[in-house]
Amino acid sequence: MKLAVDLHSHSGYAGGVGQIELTAVSRTMKLKGIDVFGTGDCIFPPRTEELKQELTEVNEGLFALPKDKSKFLLQTEVIFSTKLAHKRNKTIAHHIILFPNFDSIYKMQILMNKWKMKNTIGRPFITSDTQKEMEDQLFEIHNIHPLIEIIPAHVMTPDGIFGSKNDLDELSEFYGKFLSKIKAIETGLSADPQMLEKIPDLAELTFISNSDCHSAALNRIGREFTILDVDQVDYKSIINSIRQNNVMMTAEFNPAEGRYYLTGHRADRKGHSHEMIFADELPANMICPVCNKKMNLGVRERSIQLQDDSIIPITRNYLHLIPLIEVVAASQNLKSITSKRVREIFDIIMSIFPSEISLWQSDSIQVMLDKRIDQKTINQILAVKKGDFIFQPPGFDGVYGKLIIGDK
Ligand SMILES: [Zn+2]
Ligand SMILES: [Zn+2]
Repeated sequence: MKLAVDLHSHSGYAGGVGQIELTAVSRTMKLKGIDVFGTGDCIFPPRTEELKQELTEVNEGLFALPKDKSKFLLQTEVIFSTKLAHKRNKTIAHHIILFPNFDSIYKMQILMNKWKMKNTIGRPFITSDTQKEMEDQLFEIHNIHPLIEIIPAHVMTPDGIFGSKNDLDELSEFYGKFLSKIKAIETGLSADPQMLEKIPDLAELTFISNSDCHSAALNRIGREFTILDVDQVDYKSIINSIRQNNVMMTAEFNPAEGRYYLTGHRADRKGHSHEMIFADELPANMICPVCNKKMNLGVRERSIQLQDDSIIPITRNYLHLIPLIEVVAASQNLKSITSKRVREIFDIIMSIFPSEISLWQSDSIQVMLDKRIDQKTINQILAVKKGDFIFQPPGFDGVYGKLIIGDK
C-alpha cells in the first residue's frame, strides 16, 4: 500500500525558528497528504521528553497526538565530523537517524554521554579524530536496535557527504566497513535522481526525498516527499520498504532552484559590478575572471564530476514540484503565500481535493477545478504538474533560481 512520508525535519530546538507545535504540523500534514512525518531533533533530551509527553504509540514505532490521524516517526539529524588521514580539512557530513522507540533514543543518549559529545542542540555533532573511531561509533549506534536506520542527508550540498567541500571520490573513504549498512540516501533540495543515478556509489541505493523543514508552513512540510510501498503502516514496514527500495515515487525540487546549483559569483560581491555564472565551461583553477577569487563548485558540476556514463541507471519515478500554495501565489502575481487571496484560492482547492498530493496525482484537475477558481491558476497548476516550469537564471552562489511557470 502507498504511504506518503517526509522523514527529515527540525523542531524549534534546531535554532532560530521558535516553537513549532505538533498540532500545527499535523494540520499541515493533512492538507499536504503526508501520512508519516519525521519528528526532528528526537535525541535532544528536552525534545525527547516533549515528544514522549505529547505523543502516544498508535502503530508499532509510529506515534500520534490524541484523537489525531497524522503519524510521527522518531527522527533526528546528526552531524558526523572526522579527520580522514588523506584529507587536509575535516570531513563533515549530515545524517538522518530513524529510531523505532524511545528506549533506543535513551540508549543513543547514553552513547553520546560515553563519547563526551555535547547533546545540547536539536542537531548535535558527533566528532572523532580518525575514520576508524567514527566507523566504530556508527556501528555502536546501529547495534542499539536492528531497525535503526542511518541515512546520509542532502548528499550533494556543501554539508552533505558528496558535497564539494568534502571532495570525496568514494563513500568508503568515510564509512569504511559501515558502508554495508548504508541502504539509502536523501537527494536533498539541490539534487534530483537524474543527477545522482550514475554516481557509482549511489546507483544501487534507495533515494528518498524529505523536506528538511524548520516550520509547519504549507510551503515547507512536504516540499519534498517520498511515496513508499509498504506492507503495513508501522515503523518496521517503512524501514523494510526503504531498505528494499520499494519507493513508488519521490517529489523533488527542481535542482535549478537550489542556491548552489551553478558555479558563479553574484553581482553584490566585493569587486563585482555584475554577476558571473558558468553553465558549461569552468574557468581554469575555478578563479573568477572578475574578482580573481576562487569560486565554489556548483552542485550540478560536482555531480557531473562523480558520474560514470557507463552505468545503466535503475528506473526511478519522480516529479519536480513546487508547493501548491506557491503556485497559487505566482498565478496571482503575489510574492506572499500568506496573502488573503492566495489562502482563499488554496482553501477552495482543498475543499475539492482531499490533499495536495491527491491533486498532483489526479488526472482530472481541469474538470474538478473548472469555474471554481480562475483559469489562469488552473493553467499554472497543470503546467507545474507537466513539469513545464524553469528557474531562469538558475540558483548560484547563494542566490535562489527565479521561477518561471509555463515557458519551457
Ligand atoms: Zn542537514
Ligand atoms: Zn568573482
